[in-house]
Amino acid sequence: MNLQIERLAVLCEQLKLNDLMGSYPALAQRAAEMDMGFADFLEEVLKAELIARQARTRAALVKLSGLPAIKTVDTFDFEFATGVPKQQVRELSSLAFIERCENVILLGPSGTGKTHIALALAYFATQAGIRTRFMTAADLVMQLSAAHRQGRLEHYLKRAIGGYRLLVVDEIGYLPMHREEANLFFQVMSDRYEKSAMILTSNLPFGQWDQAFAGDSVLTAAMLDRVLHHSHIVQIQGESYRLRQKKRAGLMPGIRTKEE
Ligand code: ADP
Ligand code: MG
Repeated sequence: MNLQIERLAVLCEQLKLNDLMGSYPALAQRAAEMDMGFADFLEEVLKAELIARQARTRAALVKLSGLPAIKTVDTFDFEFATGVPKQQVRELSSLAFIERCENVILLGPSGTGKTHIALALAYFATQAGIRTRFMTAADLVMQLSAAHRQGRLEHYLKRAIGGYRLLVVDEIGYLPMHREEANLFFQVMSDRYEKSAMILTSNLPFGQWDQAFAGDSVLTAAMLDRVLHHSHIVQIQGESYRLRQKKRAGLMPGIRTKEE
């Protein structure tokens, strides 16, 4: 038979212990130096494998989530964004709302950090091992319409939407939907009701959501009824972070910030 190290590599492959051969030499050396017992050594090896496996799962979940950028609550400047309810955002970071299949709805003007907070919560979720999907409302509607046209709507709803414990739908209200699109969107909201969590963001107050949904106030009311039933509404006030940065850089002298 070949060398022991080769036999170990084959065993690891068969047992799908993907990281063990990488961590083994250093662990073995440390065990020798510390005169470690067999059980302690085995424990160290298995622990290292588990940690590496969890890291790989988290990385895979980030990839799967479609997050366009990695943002965190720590990089969110609450000093600037005084109109953001800091305590509420911190509480939501515990992700208990996902366990309870509740929704988070971020409302506020453009540039006030809605997407940032949604991304941060979604990233947290991936790090907690939760299957998460981030998409804009426009993308969601496009995919739903395509699936509908191709006669695979049911499959799409089950796999591409239902397969995620957290669904983030960003920018509701930027692009008004046609009636058919509004119906498809309604179906997603209705399917997830009390089954799995969502984060929604919009620049429109609820009273104007019908504008986004083909002007259909009946459909919008029925949808909001479900979406809001178990929900946390994060109402953001304030000015745009983007404009503030541009203004600071002297690029937009005509725009004044509030404190001036
Ligand atoms: P919205 O979705 O409300 O239009 P974004 O979350 O996209 O706004 O914010 C615009 C940009 O400004 C992003 O790059 C975001 O990371 C950044 N940003 C917004 N608010 C803050 C803040 N309070 N602290 C740090 N970065 C911020
Ligand atoms: Mg946004």
